[in-house]
Amino acid sequence: MGSHQHHDLVPLAALISREMKSEKMEKPTVRYGYAAQSRKGEDYFMMKTDCARVPGQQSTSFSVFAVFDGHNGNAAALYSRDNLLNHILSAIPRGLGREEWLQALPRALVAGFVKTDKEFQSKGQTSGTTATFVIVDRWTVTVASVGDSRCILDTQGGGVSVLTVDHRLEENQEERERVKASGGEVGRLSILGGAEIGPLRCWPGGLCLSRSIGDMDVGEFIVPIPYVKQVKLSNAGGRLIIASDGIWDAVPSEMAAKSCRGLPAELAARQVVKEALRTRGLRDDTTCIVVDIIPPDNAMPPASPPRKKQSKLKAFFLRAKSLGSTSKMSKKLSAVGIVEELFEEGSAMLAERLGNDETGGSSTSGLFICGICQVDIAASEGISVHAGSIFSTSSKPWQGPFLCADCRNKKDAMEGKRPSGVKVT
Ligand SMILES: [Zn+2]
Repeated sequence: MGSHQHHDLVPLAALISREMKSEKMEKPTVRYGYAAQSRKGEDYFMMKTDCARVPGQQSTSFSVFAVFDGHNGNAAALYSRDNLLNHILSAIPRGLGREEWLQALPRALVAGFVKTDKEFQSKGQTSGTTATFVIVDRWTVTVASVGDSRCILDTQGGGVSVLTVDHRLEENQEERERVKASGGEVGRLSILGGAEIGPLRCWPGGLCLSRSIGDMDVGEFIVPIPYVKQVKLSNAGGRLIIASDGIWDAVPSEMAAKSCRGLPAELAARQVVKEALRTRGLRDDTTCIVVDIIPPDNAMPPASPPRKKQSKLKAFFLRAKSLGSTSKMSKKLSAVGIVEELFEEGSAMLAERLGNDETGGSSTSGLFICGICQVDIAASEGISVHAGSIFSTSSKPWQGPFLCADCRNKKDAMEGKRPSGVKVT
């Protein structure tokens, strides 16, 4: 009898303790801080650590950090800060477990960015913004960005890597070609006498960026489709630095990371801003967020001396495209086995980004749901994202996801298939 009880009770207690221990082991601590110096008042940011996949369930929590660097006014930056998260989350199907949810994120990020851009443009306000949006779910970091507000990752033994690409016409040949193919012109300002000055810009509009949210007066070839990268950190954790170009124009990525190693997040952010001001002075809005993803039982921020070598994770790419310098960086990153590359995609083509949806998003009511704005559309009105695309390898116009008429217009405009600013109704 005694043995029976013993058999029942002890393993249960052990099981609970093991579960608690594994929960504790699985979940890193997230510490963060920010610092900013304003000149034009067009930089905005968000830091939100109380998000949950399942409302009210602490175990499903994740954190969001974002930087928005506005131009030609602050309306687009403010609007994005207040709406982008909701638009992304509403594009993720309900009831997914952690792994499925993380897999659905890249597509939801694309939908959320495009929906935010479309909504903001419909308000008829000028101005635009960069958006660098980072979701931290335990060890998995997902970054989506348009513009040039960079996010870098500093890992023990893995060095510094960039998780975004700079969507600047000056530095990105692929983007220059896309803009020209979509009907934009790329050139420098010319002063009296014909001398060309400053960075490459696109015309009409004169913007130096090739992707942004807003900018309705610049031309639809400035698209809001984000570069997305998803990585899983090793259990050594790491540090993210997310900042506007006020930092990056003054301090290279490597130097920014090195300048604040060993400091807790809040002080680290201040140090990076200080470093930028020391180098260049306050010439632009300067915003910096530092996020430390810290292994359990180790309350210290990532320090300079590398600790015991962690077990190597086999790096693999689910979908990796040649993206110039970034893919070189990614190879370097995965080669040292510090992070696991889960996803990377930077195409500006909506059909490639929304992918194929075998179920077509159809519901039992016979309605389809728009892949961008999530509105219900009648079966007769829905147009597949793949319709009429000569370049699509999986050209299946009957296959989802589907777009409502409004989002289809947006897609055509971004691809230069109709003049920008012309509403097709
Ligand atoms: Zn739509």
